[in-house]
Amino acid sequence: MLLRHTPKEIVERKAVSINPAKTCQPIGAMYAALGIHGCLPHSHGSQGCCSYHRSALTRHYKEPVPAATSAFTEGASVFGGQANLLQAINNIFSVYEPDVIAVHTTCLSETIGDDLPQIIKKAETEDKIPAGKYVIGVSTPSYAGSHVTGFSNMVKAIVDFAEKTDKKNGKVNIIPGWVEPSDMEEIKRIAKLIGVETIMFPDTSGVLNGPMTGKYKMFPDGGTTIAELKSTGDSIGTLALGEWCSADAARLLDKKCKVPCKVLDMPFGLKATDRFVDALRTIAGVTVSDELNAERGQLVDLITDNHQFFYKKKVAIAGDPDQVIAMVEFLVSIDMCPVHIVTGTPGKKFEKRIKELTDGEDYEVNVKAKGDLFLLHQWMKNEPVDLLICNTYGKYIARDEDVPLMRWGFPILDRQCHQYFPTVGYKGGLRLLEKILGMLLDRRDRDSPEETFELIL
Ligand code: SF4
Repeated sequence: MLLRHTPKEIVERKAVSINPAKTCQPIGAMYAALGIHGCLPHSHGSQGCCSYHRSALTRHYKEPVPAATSAFTEGASVFGGQANLLQAINNIFSVYEPDVIAVHTTCLSETIGDDLPQIIKKAETEDKIPAGKYVIGVSTPSYAGSHVTGFSNMVKAIVDFAEKTDKKNGKVNIIPGWVEPSDMEEIKRIAKLIGVETIMFPDTSGVLNGPMTGKYKMFPDGGTTIAELKSTGDSIGTLALGEWCSADAARLLDKKCKVPCKVLDMPFGLKATDRFVDALRTIAGVTVSDELNAERGQLVDLITDNHQFFYKKKVAIAGDPDQVIAMVEFLVSIDMCPVHIVTGTPGKKFEKRIKELTDGEDYEVNVKAKGDLFLLHQWMKNEPVDLLICNTYGKYIARDEDVPLMRWGFPILDRQCHQYFPTVGYKGGLRLLEKILGMLLDRRDRDSPEETFELIL
């Protein structure tokens, strides 16, 4: 949709969202479930919902996303979906043989009032779940929260697997939050460089960024195994990356198995990565390797060398709360000015945190949780920016306002490689800055008069 008619004048809206900066809960639940090895996500609702959830993930990750559905028709919509789900569990274990079925609800089954735990219990008592196989379930009504809430809810359900024995395993649990498979790989690489053994859950690396082998595997090699998930109860600590995506699961695991947890920001940018590395080093009682220190030094070098290009450039950002918070901190740390900030996910803490991060800066900041892209566009009309950071839906605003767009977040439907190149950690920070710099300098080249069109910068 072209947005050239978006008005500059901002009117208070309470009952309508225009171009929301979020999508529905089950998509997040499905993404988290794909991070369990041998898991088939299951959408308890209509076929249409399941098709949408799958296609949203497939279009972003450019990989086939397997998922099953309770395939509600008129009957189930009126009388409830218990019979459909029981039949589905039976069929799925017989035909596809997953280790786990991860069921999430939809608007329809929530509105009917289907009792998911009761249906799963019934499947158990009727021996529809083979020995050594599992069904987990989570409530994900899409009229509350967002895809981030759905992700968080499924990660909490995954904690059900944790078991506590008398013997610690010496590992650190990492709950990475909704980041790219490439980011999950990078977080594990950083832990390895420091010499810390970890269990990451969920872990979609090797699931949604696998190589082309010529053979289709319904359940790819990646994902956290059930044995690893059970062992999370014996870990020496948990690092939860992101208050919205990961904190609830980490606190639940602490309560259930007494595994102490620390909630950190997602490690985007220099400071947040420093805090992550420091927390990992402290829990495991190790020192940071020279190799990782060198990577940090490279990022500091790039920031220093290019400070004049970042300085005072205004940025508008829309995305998910955990990502946006870390990105705002990064931008402020390199003297860019994030002036318009929106997330579609509710949560008052978001606005408070952004205000803390930008406190003391000499510019006004517009920030809104449960906001939408229409509002972001209006803010940009009133105060133009040099760069927009947003998912693919930002392209319409970028075109209308003639502003460079750095695609970042979920979903990215019209570009490639986000699933292969990380943006977390020091290496990821280099990539983020390369992208930002490239856009700012391309724009400068485009707009320079001939006398200042420089070959060398
Ligand atoms: S009906 Fe609800 S669960 Fe289904 S696709 Fe729409 S928002 Fe998502």
